[in-house]
Amino acid sequence: ERIVEIEKFNAEEVTETSLRPSAWNDYIGQEQIKKNLGVFIEASSKRGEALDHVLFYGPPGLGKTTLALIIANEMGSNIKVTAAPMIEKSGDLAAILTNLEEGDILFIDEIHRLSPAVEEILYPSMEDFRLDIIIGSGPAAQTVKIDLPRFTLIGATTRAGMLSNPLRDRFGMNFRMQFYTPDELCSIITQAAIKLGKNIDKDAANEIAKRSRGTPRIALRLLKRVRDFADVANESTILHERSRYALDQLGINANGFDEMDIRLLKLLMEAKGRAMGLSTIAAALSEDEGTIEDVLEPYLLANGYLERTARGRVATPKTYELLKFGTPQIGLF
Ligand code: ADP
Repeated sequence: ERIVEIEKFNAEEVTETSLRPSAWNDYIGQEQIKKNLGVFIEASSKRGEALDHVLFYGPPGLGKTTLALIIANEMGSNIKVTAAPMIEKSGDLAAILTNLEEGDILFIDEIHRLSPAVEEILYPSMEDFRLDIIIGSGPAAQTVKIDLPRFTLIGATTRAGMLSNPLRDRFGMNFRMQFYTPDELCSIITQAAIKLGKNIDKDAANEIAKRSRGTPRIALRLLKRVRDFADVANESTILHERSRYALDQLGINANGFDEMDIRLLKLLMEAKGRAMGLSTIAAALSEDEGTIEDVLEPYLLANGYLERTARGRVATPKTYELLKFGTPQIGLF
């Protein structure tokens, strides 16, 4: 028997131990999503029902998992956290579902990676809170129906387009995560610095924010590395000068591009305006296509450094203008 890696915990216990905010108000940005979710959470609590299933989509590190944990916290529910690659067989999912209790939240990361067989099991579970299991095979096969407690599935994916239609249709709500503004990242950085027991100057937080690709996960990683530089220099407060120096040392350029971004943009510029297909780009960068589409491109697209045309990708005039200036030395990510 395989054991599915799954943890059951109270949302509070998880959030204690990391930089993840645990309270609704400490979750910065994504205002529209929070506003809508707030209404739906309140409505379902008033009716004493489980929250409808929720799908979050958007690039990694934008706070999908954190938001799921905060929803659980807000609703006072237990949350089980897992990822699609850990659910290999339909039996794995059946084990998870039958262990849920009324009102529990099940969070499945990378939900677009569920196998078709596992998805089959998920449909009636989401819709009717019922598990259809086939026991035996051939003429002796029997379908056993098991009632499940009413639970809420929260799915996260980097791209909604990768989800099968029937799965997507079974989510009552779906939310697209936005990149964060430098101001929002600045607040996230300042909040995290306090948790790390370090003061940070406003300009220093801003400097990190500007170079974080609109992504809290990157902002927090950079903050930790900048803190290392400050600690070594025996500075109790992270100052602007130190943060700038540290970020330069790390090869993070002033626009937040890292080495991979630069390689991609340079490749496109070398094509001199000819559009380049995804598979060509992937081969040239030795990266897989999914990573390029889900991780690299969204930020560059959102900020107008890259365009997708029918024939492929092209660099924009903004990119040509920008990359005349300094190139970074080494990449951190
Ligand atoms: P995802 O699930 O989208 O990949 P996570 O939820 O794991 O992203 O977030 C990455 C990190 O960024 C977490 O450690 C969390 O602390 C932080 N974070 C993300 N979004 C926010 C936010 N809105 N406010 C504060 N911190 C955030």
